[in-house]
Amino acid sequence: MLLRHAPMPRVIVDTERLRGQVAAIDGADCACPLSISPRHRSDHAAPLKFDQLLHQTPATQWRGPADYTVFASTHADAGIALLNAAALNLWQRFEVPRSPNAALHQLGIETKALHYYHEALVDLCWSGFLRDAPNTPIPLAREDTLIAWLHTTNACNLRCNYCYLAKTNEMMDEQIGRQSIDAIFRSAFMNDFQKVKIKYAGGEATLNFGLVTKLHDYARQLADEQNISLSGVVLSNGVRLTPEMIKSMLARQLRLMISLDGLGVQHDAQRHFANGRGSFDMVTCNIEMAKDQGLVPDICITVSGRSAAGLPDLIGWILDRDLPFSLNFYRENELSASFADLQLDEERIINGMLAAFKVIEANLPRRSLLASLVDRANLSAPHSRPCAAGHNYLVIDHFGRVAKCQMEMNKPITNIAVRDPLAVIRSDQIGVQNYTVEEKEGCRDCEWKYWCTGGCPQATFRATGRYDIQSPNCRIYKTLYPEVVRLEALRLLKSS
Ligand code: SF4
Ligand code: SF4
Repeated sequence: MLLRHAPMPRVIVDTERLRGQVAAIDGADCACPLSISPRHRSDHAAPLKFDQLLHQTPATQWRGPADYTVFASTHADAGIALLNAAALNLWQRFEVPRSPNAALHQLGIETKALHYYHEALVDLCWSGFLRDAPNTPIPLAREDTLIAWLHTTNACNLRCNYCYLAKTNEMMDEQIGRQSIDAIFRSAFMNDFQKVKIKYAGGEATLNFGLVTKLHDYARQLADEQNISLSGVVLSNGVRLTPEMIKSMLARQLRLMISLDGLGVQHDAQRHFANGRGSFDMVTCNIEMAKDQGLVPDICITVSGRSAAGLPDLIGWILDRDLPFSLNFYRENELSASFADLQLDEERIINGMLAAFKVIEANLPRRSLLASLVDRANLSAPHSRPCAAGHNYLVIDHFGRVAKCQMEMNKPITNIAVRDPLAVIRSDQIGVQNYTVEEKEGCRDCEWKYWCTGGCPQATFRATGRYDIQSPNCRIYKTLYPEVVRLEALRLLKSS
């Protein structure tokens, strides 16, 4: 973090993110890793051209903590910054385009303080809140990873109320699995992807864990041969994990994502066995076991009308263990529609989320939560689509059929035998249509659009019959986003 002594100007930003030390930003269960380009910052003011005109980047401003002003803008590379009064005063000099020399002259800065003002100017330029040209393009994150969801089994040992999957005992076999990996790497090669990410899913992927490891070894071999960067994650309900599985994941650098929706009965109310017995004790025991062995699981939380009230307790439990987590909103489907209490009742969700944010505020983690606090939104980098569906995402089922989204697995578009499954997915006009946020009615003029991107297209279509319109959860989002920015500002201040 950047910090100067008062009353000198101070500009605080997330320097790790700006320097690109947070390589890919991937907040949730759906497919959405974003890559950001690092921004170089020279450690002295030399590169600043003192006679060149600088322009303000439009930013929303709030009164922040400890006399700081919080700046938020999807047009600035840093996204969020805190400026103390002196830095704000400096920034305000550029209300009309002005050179640094002219601004410093106007402020009448003494020679001994000039160094601090030079540094603040460098920081304002580095973070993108001052620019050397008006109307520079938005620094959109790159969607440069081909993501594949591999449905390793259609079986599951739980019967969660919100699950969209009509479960059977069918498993993916090794031949289909290897052909699926071949198809993924064919599409990666033919569409110039340098990165592949495989999500080993189901059903419950640990029920076919032997296949998961074989397929990841095979994917590693192809990735090395083709000089492609590979990452993988096992999505699990956490019930059947064993120390051997954890060891095996660690050896392969596989990440682990475990679903946990509440503490005790709050979790069991929506994630239970077929006989109604809850899974909480087993899941939390296995989370601890994985963590003790050195594999820190990502916790995937599904927020529903039923679980929202229990969020504060759950978040407290997660923060006590310093686990990464993401909050994802329940998405209604054919199989879950009869559970009316799962629906996203606005007041209940907002109240539960705000109460959870209070817990976070009291126990701010070191890591940024911008990508993981509000459903599909990712406030850590501007982007134009909520997920990769239809663009850089292959969902491959246990028969080798390929769909656009895991919630549309029953509507495959193509299969792994075709030369380039991704090309077929990209040209499809029938399944889920994943428009950019600029194409969505109601979103075009929204100040949050490049962080929100309009929500899950599946959920919007189910609620409205349209893909080109704002999310039905828009009011929830707009209520929560300022709070997320506030939390990030507090975190930056604390870390600085
Ligand atoms: S869904 Fe709402 S908050 Fe999100 S971009 Fe659209 S208008 Fe803005
Ligand atoms: S369409 Fe919705 S459910 Fe499907 S991948 Fe995108 S965000 Fe996830």
